[in-house]
Amino acid sequence: MSACIFCKILKKEIPSQILFENENVFAIRDIQPQSKEHVLIIPKKHYSTLHEAESYGELENLSKFWLSAALEVSKQLKIDFSGYRLVINQGENGGQTVFHLHLHLLGGERLSGKFV
Ligand code: 5GP
Ligand code: ZN
Repeated sequence: MSACIFCKILKKEIPSQILFENENVFAIRDIQPQSKEHVLIIPKKHYSTLHEAESYGELENLSKFWLSAALEVSKQLKIDFSGYRLVINQGENGGQTVFHLHLHLLGGERLSGKFV
């Protein structure tokens, strides 16, 4: 999708340091980090929301490689034992601002709050 910021990063139209990449997913640091480590784990295929991914029958496949990638990034950052939080902001009330599906990995410090 040409106007999508994450698609542009993937196509290298916008420079960004890729922390992790495989055939399905790539990971970059969030531009406005909310914790010491804040990484976005982004499926390469553009789905705006979880529900769009589901409508293409991709949810099962996605769940597997997406979560595996998050665990891999946590190991790369050496926060797999200290812990971290995985967040998906789904839709308007969930606070989603970029409509290309992504998972937030937050850690590197003790996170305040729990859910909201
Ligand atoms: P959402 O609000 O949709 O859950 O998450 C979108 C995230 O993307 C936000 O945390 C925001 O800071 C981040 N973001 C927006 N534009 C860019 C960008 O150009 N580069 C990077 N690395 N992160 C971005
Ligand atoms: Zn996109």
